[in-house]
Amino acid sequence: MNERDSETIAGMLESLGYETFEETVSTAPGSPRRPWRGADVIVINTCSVRENADNRFFGLLGSIKHEKEARPETIVAVCGCMMQQQHIVDRVKEKYGWVDIVFGTNNIHEFPRLLENMRRERIKRYNVLPDAETIIEDLPVKRQHDHKAFVNIMFGCDNFCTYCIVPYTRGRERSRAPSAIRNEIIGLCAAGTKEITLLGQNVNSYRGMTDGASSLKDAQTGVDFADLITLLDDIEGLERIRFMTSHPKDFSDKLIRVFSESCHLCPAVHLPIQSGSSRVLGLMNRGYTKDAYLSLVSKLRDVRPGIAVTTDLIVGFPGETADDFAETMDVIERVRFDSAFTFIYSPRRGTPAAEYEDQVPEDVKHERFNRMVERLNEITFEKNREHIGRVEKILVEGMSKTDHALYSGRTPEGKLVNFTAVGASAADGLTGRIVDVLLTDAGTFSFIG
Ligand code: SAH
Ligand code: SF4
Repeated sequence: MNERDSETIAGMLESLGYETFEETVSTAPGSPRRPWRGADVIVINTCSVRENADNRFFGLLGSIKHEKEARPETIVAVCGCMMQQQHIVDRVKEKYGWVDIVFGTNNIHEFPRLLENMRRERIKRYNVLPDAETIIEDLPVKRQHDHKAFVNIMFGCDNFCTYCIVPYTRGRERSRAPSAIRNEIIGLCAAGTKEITLLGQNVNSYRGMTDGASSLKDAQTGVDFADLITLLDDIEGLERIRFMTSHPKDFSDKLIRVFSESCHLCPAVHLPIQSGSSRVLGLMNRGYTKDAYLSLVSKLRDVRPGIAVTTDLIVGFPGETADDFAETMDVIERVRFDSAFTFIYSPRRGTPAAEYEDQVPEDVKHERFNRMVERLNEITFEKNREHIGRVEKILVEGMSKTDHALYSGRTPEGKLVNFTAVGASAADGLTGRIVDVLLTDAGTFSFIG
């Protein structure tokens, strides 16, 4: 979501005539990279899901200070989730008063105006909207990738998991109109996009108003997430549909059916479990149990054998006992995730869990975390090895970042493959095409083909 917001910010800057600034000044060996040196505008888009990001933000501001002192005309803007928290804006005001513009996640569209005011009249503004009711369509976008794209379908979150800051920083759930989503994707595909990832904090609670409907009551009978996928399935040129993130508590049987019916929905589902302990899931306010999660995974595997199941896991939620953690390890053995994003619980100010008394000591969290990641990686490796010898359809994304002689792309399950093209070269322009690749070797994080 944060990356997608950055694409909009970059798009707005480009439409004002700005260009991406490449580092032109070489820095002395050992000194930190300062890619912003000499830029006219510096924008920092922040995330506040974990404390680590907060700390890095303030560290980064500290290093930008020198640039601002040396070139006071440089405009510094900070935005994103962190700015949706009053205590952060207060700290920026107090300690980093040289920041020129502050805006939040709910008023990104105001950035061009704030920037022009600053540029022309040197008017500093700290403008943040606590929540938003409407969705502003048609903001310019500078996409990161040529052949795959993120498409927002909804904003905000109403779930209030007790550890999570997102409902406070992104506001209440609101869904885009199905026609707006469809039109955006038609435009993308006409320009060569092959794969889209539908984005929302909880795509399963998508509820789109059909054109002409005017009230929430109408919207209740409108388009749900399963309908939306069906509505997008026939768009010309669209080869792959993915989505993230879906919440296990709202995963309907109708949506499960779409996995067997849709022509373009990829055999991959990101289904954050967070913990394997039903007791901890209750404390997290997740709204499902370990058994319900396991049964959902098995239903998905029934309708779409071979579907890749990935997840998010939090270790060290307040009150997590050795037995609770053993339940998480048990789920890992039973599901055998294709991969997982793993997090050490990080208390977020303003969320209920941050106030719980029984916080887990740091050393215990780290020990559990390391044990869990080690086992997850072993399983990923074992599962990946099973694919060796298969021919897979790869959407080619370009040349590999680490080895420019290799192409790089992903399987329908979302696995990364670096491969040589027999008898082909970069000049053959495989990028953006879907090609058959024989998988010859597999590691934990990627394949060779
Ligand atoms: N809406 C998505 C998650 C968005 S946040 C969902 O519900 O699945 C992405 C991930 O960050 C979460 O799934 C969770 O695993 C992790 N996360 C969120 N808050 C956290 C916290 N306070 N500490 C550690 N991890 C956290
Ligand atoms: Fe956070 Fe839960 Fe909403 Fe995901 S569903 S964004 S974890 S509150």
